[in-house]
Amino acid sequence: MSYVIPAVPVVSVPVVGRAETFPVRRIYCVGRNYVEHAKEMGFTGREAPFFFIKPADNALVVPQGQTGEMAYPPLTKDLHHEIELVACIGTGGRNIKAADAKKHIWGYAVGLDMTRRDLQGEQKKLGRPWEIGKAFEQAAPIGPIVPAAQAGDVENADIWVQVNGKDRQRSNVSKLIWNIGEIIEHISAAWELAPGDLIYTGTPEGVAAVGKGDTLVGGVTGLPELRVRVV
Ligand code: MN
Repeated sequence: MSYVIPAVPVVSVPVVGRAETFPVRRIYCVGRNYVEHAKEMGFTGREAPFFFIKPADNALVVPQGQTGEMAYPPLTKDLHHEIELVACIGTGGRNIKAADAKKHIWGYAVGLDMTRRDLQGEQKKLGRPWEIGKAFEQAAPIGPIVPAAQAGDVENADIWVQVNGKDRQRSNVSKLIWNIGEIIEHISAAWELAPGDLIYTGTPEGVAAVGKGDTLVGGVTGLPELRVRVV
């Protein structure tokens, strides 16, 4: 195949213990999926799940043991961290039932749903789409993927992020409002899931701003830590 312009390279994420990598198709994100985070954003946490998408090329892939460098993005003065467990889809489908969802998950990783909160807030007030707040270069840092069978009990794992060595967010994945099976059921009712889709499952309370020079270290028990420095 030859193209009239350069083709977009495939974004791929390293896999722990494997030479092969995980190619990314889409990045789905769940909004307000922990009660205490919904409350800090001014909501009750009693709403149906909802989703947004980041382009695959927004991923900032950080190999194990390395620190990713995220360039502070333009237009914002309020860049927030949202630490999230990421489910990585190995086999796709439509109308997947929650009870069957696990077999569609190839593995798990630690991710950050980086957010230009001031721009998102302006769009919310105007009733406009969130893209400018959520979808931008390097807005989706992700660490190495652990195959599902080796990831341990991620649904009851601690989840946290520290900034410059101090706790910012610390919770447990068991506090998800909509669990991973239910998320997959809802997403696959609206879109056809496919191999390579990443699902950022939502963030707990404690979201806050970072600036140039800050180092974020995020984790979920059983998965490699994700380290990102804002530059
Ligand atoms: Mn999020």
